[in-house]
Amino acid sequence: MAGDVHYLIRRGFFYAHRDLRTILDRQRTGLKWALYSGRGPSADLHIGHLVPWMLGRWFVNRFGVEYFFEMTDDEKFLVKEGYTLEQTNRYAYENALDLIALGFPPDKLHIIIDTEDIKYLYKIAVRVGKKLTLSTVKHTFGFTDSTNVGAAFFPTLEISVAFLPTELYGETVPVLIPTAIDQDPYFRLARDIAEDLGYPKPSTIYGKFIPGLTGEDKMSASNPDSAIYITDEERDVKRKIMNALTGGQPTAEFQRKYGGDPDNCVVYKYHLLFQESDEKVKRIYEDCKVGKLLCGECKAMLFERIREFMKEHNERRERAKDVVQQYRLSTKFK
Ligand code: SF4
Repeated sequence: MAGDVHYLIRRGFFYAHRDLRTILDRQRTGLKWALYSGRGPSADLHIGHLVPWMLGRWFVNRFGVEYFFEMTDDEKFLVKEGYTLEQTNRYAYENALDLIALGFPPDKLHIIIDTEDIKYLYKIAVRVGKKLTLSTVKHTFGFTDSTNVGAAFFPTLEISVAFLPTELYGETVPVLIPTAIDQDPYFRLARDIAEDLGYPKPSTIYGKFIPGLTGEDKMSASNPDSAIYITDEERDVKRKIMNALTGGQPTAEFQRKYGGDPDNCVVYKYHLLFQESDEKVKRIYEDCKVGKLLCGECKAMLFERIREFMKEHNERRERAKDVVQQYRLSTKFK
């Protein structure tokens, strides 16, 4: 139906779904559906954050679907120590620039900033809130008696966006949510209560965490060398990539003789994420296996690819500053 399958799906970075068929059936029969993602804005982004949004862009461009995007500046303020609301709100705008820089038509991407756009969500959130008991929310999210009540109410807002397109259009508009598995509890609750509230159940497609360059399961803010940040200087990007964990042999001689292990190599995973050409990644894989490619050369290739990606991204990010309002939900829906 799409004519092809996005390389992130083909390569297994998106690996599971719940009820994708509903969305595919609607697409096939020309019925409306929408995309929904979000971001808890409390820091600058690393390039791994952009990966699910790149898939979102593909859906938008391929299917002409609208993309609702929630910046949860309220939640980050409520759950993270040491942040003022002004700071998380500022990050919402900063992160929005990175999203816009990926290249969306303004009429297709609708950014919601919770602390500024609550009027779109509040009526839905109140209805959602009445359906969820404190006990359910505590058990689902691991809240305790010392959790602040703001954090306890917040899930109603994340769930509300799943129902917002239906409210805005006054017709059934189910959403597809590309997300990491850690957000699944919100959407399972959303599915549980959707029909009672007269809304369609949201569908989900799950992405893997992007591994840390230094071997962690995911990029982590607590180890800056595990991740490449959008704001990193070129020399830091290079240093991080050159220090990344590989599946290579201890010496060049051994590598030539025995080949490397791309299946257990972070550098190869990053090639898979940021190199769209199947032919190029296949060559890296095969050359590594037979010892034709050394890790130093392979990392240099990755650095070049990421450098190019970041240069283009940062140029588009700069231009996004002039047009951010065109992407706000509040500019388009009154
Ligand atoms: Fe990894 Fe590349 Fe080294 Fe192979 S050559 S182990 S893919 S860094």
